[in-house]
Amino acid sequence: MERPTVTKESQSLQKLTEALGTKKGRIQDGVLSWAGGSIARYPWRRAGSTPYEVLIGEILIGKTTYAVASRVYRLFLRRFPSLNALAEANEDELAKALDFSYMKRYGAFIKAVIQDLLNKGIAKVPSDSYALRALGLQPYNVNAIMCFGYGFHLAVIDSNVSRMLSRLFCNSLPAQPPRGLIQAIGEALLPDRNAAQYNANLLDLADQICNFGRPLCAQCLMLDVCDHASVCVDISSIQNKG
Ligand code: SF4
Repeated sequence: MERPTVTKESQSLQKLTEALGTKKGRIQDGVLSWAGGSIARYPWRRAGSTPYEVLIGEILIGKTTYAVASRVYRLFLRRFPSLNALAEANEDELAKALDFSYMKRYGAFIKAVIQDLLNKGIAKVPSDSYALRALGLQPYNVNAIMCFGYGFHLAVIDSNVSRMLSRLFCNSLPAQPPRGLIQAIGEALLPDRNAAQYNANLLDLADQICNFGRPLCAQCLMLDVCDHASVCVDISSIQNKG
């Protein structure tokens, strides 16, 4: 009888599974104890935010910086506090609420999503990922609405979190890990409780600390379990001084 062969893929998967088992607790603790102020900084990620608020906030933050998005968000919600109020807005009112001229097209996109909902006879932001995808929302926005707006136990992974997870597990991943694999890692790391707090902290950590150009590894709470840390510039400089 022929013995089953161990493929490279199954070896990689086993390596990744072992790494997840080893690092999971440390990563959860590090993310949940991050005191970067993420909840205060992003009001739509606070407990009690409505799905409409999450929809608006996450679309804005996906298109611009925190400073611009938070300012526009407050103006926008003041003028259009509900889905119905936004559906009745005209172009001029939208332009005023968005304030910055380059944000106008995102206002049009937000309004198109809301209009589509109302045309379909749906009077609230759906709590169903298929219905949210059908409105043209990206997977990140869908999971953010489901988690922060409706309390579903889901990993919320934007491009920053994707980069951070790829760095944490780079010794067990292909050079260009597929999106589905990163999502699966995110789901595997999600704690049983406090998923919204964990997701909000992770989004902030990945943006503030594990940034694109020069990650601030010396300030990172996951330093001791990160595969990428040994090649980080700020760590090398500390070690060289030692
Ligand atoms: S140690 Fe550095 S590379 Fe690793 S997750 Fe933290 S900031 Fe990112």
